Amino acid sequence: MSGFLNSIGRLRAPKRSPTTPGQQQYFDPLPSPGLEFGQNPLGNSPQPKPLYLCQPFVKAALVKGSFKTIVAPPKYVDVNEWVAVNLFDFYHNLNHFYGALTDFCTMQNCPTMAAGPSINFLWPDQSQRLVSLPAPTYIDFVMSWLQKLLDDESVFPTKSGRDFPPSFAYTAKHIYKHLFRIFAHLYHAHFEQILHLSVEAHFNSLFAHFLAFGKEFELLGMKELMTPEGMGQGVAQLSDKWREMGILES
Ligand SMILES: [Zn+2]
Repeated sequence: MSGFLNSIGRLRAPKRSPTTPGQQQYFDPLPSPGLEFGQNPLGNSPQPKPLYLCQPFVKAALVKGSFKTIVAPPKYVDVNEWVAVNLFDFYHNLNHFYGALTDFCTMQNCPTMAAGPSINFLWPDQSQRLVSLPAPTYIDFVMSWLQKLLDDESVFPTKSGRDFPPSFAYTAKHIYKHLFRIFAHLYHAHFEQILHLSVEAHFNSLFAHFLAFGKEFELLGMKELMTPEGMGQGVAQLSDKWREMGILES
């Protein structure tokens, strides 16, 4: 995958969304368990088939065949360490893509964290009430929260002799869930711009790697990431396609 990592370096460096209002508070989502969904108000209007499900884009990838082999941990590497390093890489790579899309992911274009005709991810506010946020605000919250977590030595120990906390598996699932939601929004709302940047093969590869990784380390499956009604749409549909095509294991 090193060629892949190098080649996404040509994307514009990530930047903070200029559209996030200053008065918006950043809330830590960790205490909120489970899944949070709202209805996307556009849910009832007929939708054309998303481009990411169409040929040739659906099969554009930098890795041929199954992603199973690239997710296995190297010998003698602690599993927690491997999960931590990979989550760190997924976060940084996804942040690069998002950085290239911030001009399009604005309050006006993306007033909700939509990820399909009837999927709108919600975020817990200070009193743990779930609220609908514009996508750029939601994504900024996730990225700020993640940066804080990744810098926290008690959650992601980097010094030798320090162990991962017992809660690491729980934290890893939470991180995985929120990264997944960013992928889901970018596919749903910004795939056309991803095509204009000619990075669809890179983006598909990163997401397929992310899904294969989640399966291998039992982070969260599609059924836990989506509601039953969300299963047949958005990136859930894409992952079904990739399973049919042998890109992902069934
Ligand atoms: Zn957006």
